[in-house]
Amino acid sequence: MTAGPGSELAPPTAIGAVVARPGRPDLHDGYLPRMFSRAVHVLSIRGIDVRLDPTLVVLAALIVWTFAGRFAAEHGWSSATVMGLGGMVLFLASILAHELAHALEARHRDIEVDSITLLIFGGVTQMHAHSSRPRDEFAIAAVGPFVSLLCGAILGLISLATPLLPWGDQLTQLLRLLAALNVVLAVFNLVPGAPLDGGRVLRALLWAVLGDRSRAIRVAARCGQLLGLTIVAYGIWIAVRVPQATIAALWYLAIGGFLYWAAGSEHRNSRLDDLYSGTRVREVVALGRDHPATSFPLETPTDGDLPNGDDAGLPQVDLDADLHELVDAFQGHHDRVILTDAGEPIGTVAERYVARAVALLRRGRRPTAGSEPTP
Ligand SMILES: [Zn+2]
Repeated sequence: MTAGPGSELAPPTAIGAVVARPGRPDLHDGYLPRMFSRAVHVLSIRGIDVRLDPTLVVLAALIVWTFAGRFAAEHGWSSATVMGLGGMVLFLASILAHELAHALEARHRDIEVDSITLLIFGGVTQMHAHSSRPRDEFAIAAVGPFVSLLCGAILGLISLATPLLPWGDQLTQLLRLLAALNVVLAVFNLVPGAPLDGGRVLRALLWAVLGDRSRAIRVAARCGQLLGLTIVAYGIWIAVRVPQATIAALWYLAIGGFLYWAAGSEHRNSRLDDLYSGTRVREVVALGRDHPATSFPLETPTDGDLPNGDDAGLPQVDLDADLHELVDAFQGHHDRVILTDAGEPIGTVAERYVARAVALLRRGRRPTAGSEPTP
């Protein structure tokens, strides 16, 4: 049989991840905003943007090549290529169904969904916020693999009828392979390491048991890093032991590396989230006064009136709010936020200054005791 990219060894898997809180790259250790900046909006499904990342071309080509390679010996290259193209479209549709399941379940649980992006490693659903209850997190994560299993079962059932159709042999083989791939997609995504769905499920269970979301995130992220390293090690093993499977080895290295990196990013973000929750805006402003090198904090002090002109419509955050609120206020397309003290506007603060203060906080700097902001 003519092999595609290692027809037995190529992982026919794709990642169907769910990520919350896309974040600004300088305030969150957000790997996704940078990754998806080139994704193109193609359609909306029930108000959810579906976007294609240019790197999806690599996945599409790999699927066509693998499928065509698998069927070429039996059906000839032209038939096999048509089967490869059909298989690619159906497989990407399966990934989209998996992601839509996450997105619709999240929305059902009142979590706003930003978009679904299909990319080289599969699909990612971006949500505006994370779940506030373990059971929501569990349901949103588990529904993706469940839908992949369902797709596998439906494709398998349809394949029972296709032998009677014209091109029945080819259709049946194609549908059975796709059914198997959907089952592999479900099983791979259920491996308990973030950012895979299994990691989210693990996180939800740990969260429910420990009652500590941050710890649950970190354990799931460490499991994800371990999983990533294991896949990388397997890729290296294949590269050494099966020289003809270079593409499969590279694919494992890429997927393992991506998982390791994404899981590490989640771990760091969790620490950052804790820092944000435990710091009040007042302390950040005081920190700026302690460290004048930060050029912090107030860009345009106001005389107590609400700013007008360019500043109208900017979000407002009070000095007694936690740092999360200030960071989240930059989430829109704002690079400045109005600070208020007991409801009275005292000035605007720029995102870059907050980012510098966050950098100081991450290095363990705290404002000196009793510091009060003096706008
Ligand atoms: Zn998923």
